[in-house]
Amino acid sequence: MFAKRIESLSESMTMAITSLARELKANGKDVLSFSAGEPDFDTPKAIKDAAKKAIDEGFTKYTSIEGIPELLDAIIDKLKRDNNLTYTRKQVIVSNGAKHSLFNIFQTLIDEEDEVIIPSPYWVTYPELVKYSGGKPIIIKTSEKNGFKITPQELKEAITPKTKILILTTPSNPTGAIYSKDELKSLADVLKGTHIFVVSDEMYEKLTYEGSFTSAAAISEDMYNRTITINGLSKSAAMTGWRFGYLATPNEDIVQAIKKLQSQSTSNINSITQKAAIKGLDGTIEKDIEFMRNEFKKRRDIAYELINSIDGLSIVKPDGAFYLFVNHKEVEKDSLKFAKRLLEQEGVAVVPGIGFGMDGYFRFSFATNLDTIEKGIKRIKRFVEKE
Ligand code: PMP
Ligand code: GLU
Repeated sequence: MFAKRIESLSESMTMAITSLARELKANGKDVLSFSAGEPDFDTPKAIKDAAKKAIDEGFTKYTSIEGIPELLDAIIDKLKRDNNLTYTRKQVIVSNGAKHSLFNIFQTLIDEEDEVIIPSPYWVTYPELVKYSGGKPIIIKTSEKNGFKITPQELKEAITPKTKILILTTPSNPTGAIYSKDELKSLADVLKGTHIFVVSDEMYEKLTYEGSFTSAAAISEDMYNRTITINGLSKSAAMTGWRFGYLATPNEDIVQAIKKLQSQSTSNINSITQKAAIKGLDGTIEKDIEFMRNEFKKRRDIAYELINSIDGLSIVKPDGAFYLFVNHKEVEKDSLKFAKRLLEQEGVAVVPGIGFGMDGYFRFSFATNLDTIEKGIKRIKRFVEKE
């Protein structure tokens, strides 16, 4: 009955485990969930106020497909201010979350057999979206010894005449690794002279604790021209449910093509979210972001120390985002078995590494309160000691 492309699509493992944990909890089971990549903080007040105002003023109709001009301008100003990148309104388009921006990119650029290079561990959604567009994910497996980052040599070896896109995620979900300016420069050198696009997913840009963040497009003119920058407010402004994301590229044809696709699929994103998102971008919530970042940093430090001191578990300390990618190979090599038993025996939900393309690990989200984090890690310790 179903189309082949939907038959071969897997459900998002992060989403699936998060809803399983929610369901178990609703049925009265004592479950502590560290599966969701979702801040536990409320959306900052200035954003909520802007949304209420938009409703009261009747800003409830269709808007232009790509987003209202004030919102495009707020994105353009943000990219200039934070990333030193210059774009015009025709080079930016707003979608229903960064996930939707990514979906649109692959649907627009990928033809049957085109290859997309994806460093692993990767965010669960990339290979699925590439496959859904008819393309072929080419996985470069990174290692702990390189801080879960690809090297120029590895990139060089993965490139073929069919390579269309390289995906970079910095800071990374699930490892929290951040590419330094020099590391990005040396990857950029490999790409010089090719027609490869870079999709730079910068969702966790504001959540950095060590090192400094550089946008891939800011490395050089060559990188600026080939890079499609993806960002949003789900993580930095605790706006996961509002559904706002965007992309920027100097290639206006790409934006036009995505606009065409959106005009036949979703149309504009929610009008109220658009008004609210302006407040998430224009500097109004800087203090809120700083507060959340500091809280995440405290949690990272505590969770890292506690988990890393458990015999049989080890972690490369994340520089950004809000995840620990924990190596549990000494305890159990199969991440699905590990996560399943941990949930059944201790009521602790984590995401198996295999979902991110790397077995023998689990992802622990510390985007939840410290009390829950400490309680959860005690249970993980008890579980590991029993195993
Ligand atoms: N990119 C990365 C790396 C993510 O972790 C996520 C998860 N939220 C997204 C994109 C998509 O975010 P959203 O659709 O909520 O904007
Ligand atoms: N990106 C988040 C995560 O990795 C939210 C879930 C999802 O969109 O897949 O958990």
